This record gives sequence, C-alpha cells and structure tokens, in this order.
Amino acid sequence: MSNEKIPYKIYLEEHEMPTHYYNLRADMEKKPAPLLNPGTGEPLTLEEMEPIFCKELIKQELDNDTKFVPIPQEIRDFYKMYRPSPLVRAYCLEERLGTPAKIYYKFEGNNTSGSHKLNSAIAQAYYAKEQGLKGVTTETGAGQWGTALSMACSYFQLDCDVYMVKVSYEQKPFRREVMRTYGATITPSPSNTTNIGRKILEEHPNTTGSLGCAISEAVEAATSREGYRYVLGSVLNQVLLHQSIIGLETKAAMDKYGIKPDIIIGSAGGGSNLGGLIAPFMGEKLTGKEDYQIIAVEPASCPSFTRGKFAYDFADTGKICPLAKMYTLGSDYIPAPNHAGGLRYHGMSTTLSELYDQGYMEARSVAQTDVFAAAEEFARVEGILPAPESAHAIKVALDEAKKCIETGEEKTILFGLTGTGYFDLTAYQKYHDGEMEDYVPTDEEIAKSLSSLPQID
Ligand SMILES: *Cc1c(COP(=O)(O)O)cnc(C)c1O
Repeated sequence: MSNEKIPYKIYLEEHEMPTHYYNLRADMEKKPAPLLNPGTGEPLTLEEMEPIFCKELIKQELDNDTKFVPIPQEIRDFYKMYRPSPLVRAYCLEERLGTPAKIYYKFEGNNTSGSHKLNSAIAQAYYAKEQGLKGVTTETGAGQWGTALSMACSYFQLDCDVYMVKVSYEQKPFRREVMRTYGATITPSPSNTTNIGRKILEEHPNTTGSLGCAISEAVEAATSREGYRYVLGSVLNQVLLHQSIIGLETKAAMDKYGIKPDIIIGSAGGGSNLGGLIAPFMGEKLTGKEDYQIIAVEPASCPSFTRGKFAYDFADTGKICPLAKMYTLGSDYIPAPNHAGGLRYHGMSTTLSELYDQGYMEARSVAQTDVFAAAEEFARVEGILPAPESAHAIKVALDEAKKCIETGEEKTILFGLTGTGYFDLTAYQKYHDGEMEDYVPTDEEIAKSLSSLPQID
C-alpha cells in the first residue's frame, strides 16, 4: 500500500501549531459586503458597534486586509489543552465502503463542549477580559455555543449570561447543567429580566421562545449594564477568523505527509466551521496556487445557499441587528420545528456568501433522515457518535466516496467532523423509532419569507 506511512491519526507537534489566525478576506479580490446600520443604511462604524461588541473583536470584524493575525499566548495556552485536534484517516470506513477514495476528517468534538465552537469562545472571552469587561452575554439555541462560552468565561473569570430559548431550556436540561457547572447564569428566554422579554411575555404568555427573541434579550442585557458586551458564536467574520485554526492545523498536518485533498466538505449553519476548515485551502484557490472542490452542506429544511437569495437582510428575527449581505431565506423564515440540532439560521456568513456567489464553492442540501442514516453508518465503523450538524458533512462525504467506487477514482476527501452527538439522543431516538420526518419548504413558503427583505440596492 502506497499510503502505509500515513497514520490513523495525524497530530501536529506543539511547535508546529499555528501561531496566527488566517484572515481569508485579505486574499479576496472582491471583499464581503459591509454590515449596514439598519437605521441609516450606511456601513457600520467601530464607534456604532462599540456599545454592543468588544473593541478588538470589532476591529477584527472590519479588517479585510490583515492576512495573519497573531494568536495571543493566553489563547494558545488554552488551545494546548485540547488541540491540536486529530486529523483522522478513515481507513476503517474506506474498507467497509470498498471505495478507492481516501477519506480524512478533522475531529473537533474532543473537548467538553463537544464542538468547534470553543475555538472562537476562548478568543472572544480573552478579548473581553483584555478590555477589562466584567462579563459577556449571549443566546444559545441547541446549547453548544452557550456551553463553549461558559467554559471560556470560567477560564478567564468573566461573568457569562446565557439566554437560552425556553423550549431548549426545558428540553435540554443536561446542557444547562454543564453550563452551570462552569458558572454561567442561564435564563430561559423570553424572561422578565429584560424590557423586550417582559413585552414579549405580556403579548404571548405561553410562548416557548425563539432564537431571535433570545438575541434581543442578550443584546439588551449587554447594553443596559456597565462592563458587559454581547458575543456571537457563528456567522460573523471574527468567528471565521478564529475558526481558521481548524483549517491551518489540517493543512499543516496534510502538508507534513504530502496529502492534497481533492474535495473539502463541511456542514454550514452560519458558516463558521466551514469557513475555518477551508480558509487556507480557499486562500490557495483564490491566489491561483491550487484548486480544490469545496462543498457546503446544509439541511433541506433550511436551504440558505441552495434556495435562498443573495441580498441584504436583517441578521436576526427581531430586526434589531445590523443588515448583512448574505444568502438568506429571509429573517422571517421559520425553519421546521422538527429539525434536529443546529444549522437552522436563516442566513449565512457574508464571506462564504460572497465566495459562493463568485463560484469558488458549491452547496448541497440534504434531507434529515439521510443525515441520520449517514451518522449511523459512520458511527458503526469509525466509533465516534457524530453531532447531527456534523453528519450533514458525513452524508456528502459518503456520497462522494461511493461515487468513487463507480468511477474507480482515488479521490482524496476531507470533511469537518465538528462535534459529538451525546446531547442529541432524543433526535437519534426519533430516527430509530421511525418518527423522524423530512421537511422541505415549498417555493411559495420561501418566496413569502423573501418578500419581506429590506429594500437595499
Ligand atoms: C454550531 C454547530 C455547527 C454549525 O455552525 P457553523 O457556524 O456553521 O459552523 C456545526 N456543527 C456543530 C457540532 C455545531 O455545534
């Protein structure tokens, strides 16, 4: 076997770990469109964002030019506790499939929060601490981001106030307890701790909450108190920047063994893990050094790339956040309630949206039951119980590996295995009991939610 030298798990040595984040925007000729102030329609300035976000993070958000951003030593020290994450050669899966393809996955589930979100949470907590803040606020739906942020804040001794969508708060008590273990304050949203929460409760006393509502509460909780700022776990450019650690490690590990992926696959919710995984590869593609086939995978129930529109839209359901130019289904789009796990955001990272629009990457949407079938197929051979979000990437990786059986091509496939699925066992149960449904929105439904897009040229 020619690839006998490649180990099952490729780790970097400590001295080979990335020392800088890579800002993909620096290599984009056409930059992502700026965030706009919803009131004036003008690009947001640092001054306008300062009451809401940490200063250094705003700088990163607005910086389209600095290619390499040094990773502060404190963040690198934290990374050392759970990084490098392994790049795994899926020998067992290849053999079971009988494919000539070579399959690799970068596994980000090896930390207590169980996903890649910790990579950005620790950076955001660090910059908040550096600024001398008392704490940060955020919202969480399924709970991965809240968990990651709780861990990061406890490390830097910052307050962490998490507004958790009420239905998740009640249905996911275990995530809640992990967050409390790390000292976070968890408030079911809507709550009577904010004006907006009280108003919503007055109008809809029995509501189970929504992400949009939790965002509104978290922003209010940050801006109405001295020493607090709001932080976000996906979509933003700063989050993609921090997540570039995933791609940089992967590229370094592959270069060490002379491996070049033909296809790179990642699940796409707000775009942070995919943006991070592909960053250095996309950089080579943008500068004409190499070519890669890059595939974003999204749920058929929330198909922003494959069926959405590239336009300015509100970043949140409450329409209080800035306008972002992105692939969107409309901020009024309500994803199917039966959809398991994350990836339910109506929009997409502005950077990935721009790259997709320019034809640098493709996108596919997959049905939920196919995703769980792929998760099971993977788990039974490779051992890891994948998060449903991650299993979107697995599904397409399996599809591509199976194509190679027919064509005989020995393609090298790389995908991002973003996390573990221990907190998603209710969804697995539904799948096993045959109670899981595939929801695909009709053209009319999508047209309806797109009809309320703000009018911006
Ligand atoms: C949040 C999450 C995702 C999707 O978010 P992105 O910002 O698109 O990366 C994917 N997988 C897991 C495990 C997650 O927790």
